Amino acid sequence: MIVHDILNEATLCFAEAGIPSPRLDAEVLLAFCLDCDRLEFFKNPLRPVDEKVLALFQKLVTRRLKEEPVAYITSRKEFWSFVLEVNKSVLIPRPDTEVLVEEALGICKGITIPEIKILDIGTGSGAIALALACELPRIRVTATDISAAALAVAEKNARNLRLDSQIKFLQGNLFQPVGDFFDIIVSNPPYIADEEYDKLPGGVKNYEPREALQAGLGGLDFYRKIVNEAPAHLKHDGWLLLETGAAQSVKVISIAEASGQFDDMSVRNDYAGLPRVIKARRK
Ligand code: SAM
Ligand code: GLN
Repeated sequence: MIVHDILNEATLCFAEAGIPSPRLDAEVLLAFCLDCDRLEFFKNPLRPVDEKVLALFQKLVTRRLKEEPVAYITSRKEFWSFVLEVNKSVLIPRPDTEVLVEEALGICKGITIPEIKILDIGTGSGAIALALACELPRIRVTATDISAAALAVAEKNARNLRLDSQIKFLQGNLFQPVGDFFDIIVSNPPYIADEEYDKLPGGVKNYEPREALQAGLGGLDFYRKIVNEAPAHLKHDGWLLLETGAAQSVKVISIAEASGQFDDMSVRNDYAGLPRVIKARRK
């Protein structure tokens, strides 16, 4: 069989099953099986595919039809300017989170000290920590997670990207393993409300780690804890940056206001126009 026909058939199959980006997924999975770039399919649609590769592709299509995310099937996900390894121990990094990275870098550009210390709470695949470290060599990140399996993924990504000298990884509950002061604290904590969890798309609910997503009634548990504990680890005038669910930013700002520890609070929208990141400066 040739690439053109294989892709058309898989695309149709995905579309009929209600998979959201059928053509893209078919191309990414076939490119993975052939160890080539997707562009190859435009250049060479008549390329023949041997039976062994086709059999592998069909297995992966079957997994995708059960809603397994493409990133878990291929063990890779693009984020910022690099490709990260991922597995089922980590949340698949989302493009929305790049907005948090942009905001943190904006703050860093205004800080002139030779070493900027950043804490990333709940680092998962290491996405945020790695993006920050790769942009500015003077950034030093402490990246924490409660999951040892997630930290193993983040550490591997740091080594692969040769950023391990800039990042220290610590396992533990929120601030518990941290004994330092920071210029900036960032976090994309779990923020899915208990009552929303069962309504998540199957690809998220059935495959991504529950402990990376679920956050109590209203989904605000982690914001309350982080806002309350962050001041003890932030330098004066240091910044707290939190990713939030689109409907949560006002509530998180209220939590920060009520703590009496922060000023200069603002909300940044993501590229879909939804409120996504809150910024607050320690008084
Ligand atoms: N930072 C990554 C990103 O943006 O793609 C992952 C974010 S994911 C939404 C939240 C992460 O917080 C998960 O890796 C999870 O294991 C971690 N986590 C959950 N509860 C935690 C806790 N009590 N202390 C530290 N990390 C926690
Ligand atoms: N953005 C994720 C989702 O929509 C949630 C991530 C989080 O809880 N921090 O599934």
